[in-house]
Amino acid sequence: MTARRPRRAPPPAEGQLLDWSDRRHWARVQAPCRYCRTPTFLRDDDNLPADKVCAEKALQQRAERATAAYQNGQL
Ligand SMILES: [Zn+2]
Repeated sequence: MTARRPRRAPPPAEGQLLDWSDRRHWARVQAPCRYCRTPTFLRDDDNLPADKVCAEKALQQRAERATAAYQNGQL
């Protein structure tokens, strides 16, 4: 007999910044992604429509910009 698997998804891996299993990331209606305009049910941390891929790409770019600014002594 095998152990029952937990119903919840495992915690996000390192580097994965958004928890997409959180219900607040899901809207009832589709809206165009703020980045690529493709209709999506997903909402990002600003509660704006965004695909998972687009939102994570944007977060990554934001983090890279912050890192670059820090390294340039701008922060
Ligand atoms: Zn998109």
